[in-house]
Amino acid sequence: MSQIRFENVNYIYSGGTTFEKQALKDVSFAVESGSFIGVIGHTGSGKSTLIQHMNGLIRPTSGKIYFHDEDITADGYKKKELRSKVGIVFQYPEYQLFEIDVLTDVAFGPKNLGLSQEESRMRAIDALQLVGIKEEQYTLSPFELSGGQKRRVAIAGVLAMQPEVLILDEPAAGLDPGSRKEILDTIVHLYRETGMTVILSSHSMEDMAEYAERLLVMNQGELVMDGLPHEIFGRYKELEKMGLSAPKMTYLMHSLAGKGYDLSTDILTVSDA
Ligand code: ADP
Repeated sequence: MSQIRFENVNYIYSGGTTFEKQALKDVSFAVESGSFIGVIGHTGSGKSTLIQHMNGLIRPTSGKIYFHDEDITADGYKKKELRSKVGIVFQYPEYQLFEIDVLTDVAFGPKNLGLSQEESRMRAIDALQLVGIKEEQYTLSPFELSGGQKRRVAIAGVLAMQPEVLILDEPAAGLDPGSRKEILDTIVHLYRETGMTVILSSHSMEDMAEYAERLLVMNQGELVMDGLPHEIFGRYKELEKMGLSAPKMTYLMHSLAGKGYDLSTDILTVSDA
């Protein structure tokens, strides 16, 4: 049984007006529990729209979406429960930090779910530890933190809900190179620690090449490729036509890794040959 399944999903913004825009076209795929999936595509290709369907924030114009085989598009489906199981970290999530200090901010979600003050606090502490925020920072105002730290606190806010699936929309957008790496490393760390499903979107092929285990490529609202990173990067000519600069070197390394080479030693021998 898959964890999330899309079947022929279409989505049209502002249908029937002059602003009508079909943002998803006949999208079908399934996600297994514990996967680490990257959604790549040019700006405007439909990544955010796709993501917002996964926890019922947007309802498809047509098609079906299942969470553990239950149809989340059905009338009366328990949306609140779904949103605690499928957590989304939106773009620039730090804009949503608002509490007086870091710990209170992260504890807000579980408290809102109806958990006790103490349990919410414990969940917040666990989440902050997972994203590497130190205890002495718990009492700071979120606004006293660096860009990368603010973003990690915002991710902790979603983690504190203990979701089964963590979805991050362009988690590294707008950060300097050091903070980008910090955020992406944090995501990999918490994936390894918790084993939850992680789905992240990015227009950066480089980031995805390094981290994701499976890639979905969106182009003009269509899911045009779905496969392992080395399979996807092997189609770099097609990717380039979509405005995605494929990392050829990374493709080469992924291919070699797939053939059983030890990259730390063999890559030099191969490229010298
Ligand atoms: P991405 O996340 O890949 O940048 P989006 O899902 O945000 O792509 O957008 C897909 C398409 O839908 C784009 O053409 C975008 O302009 C359009 N779109 C996104 N949000 C809205 C909206 N609220 N109203 C109308 N069109 C929208």
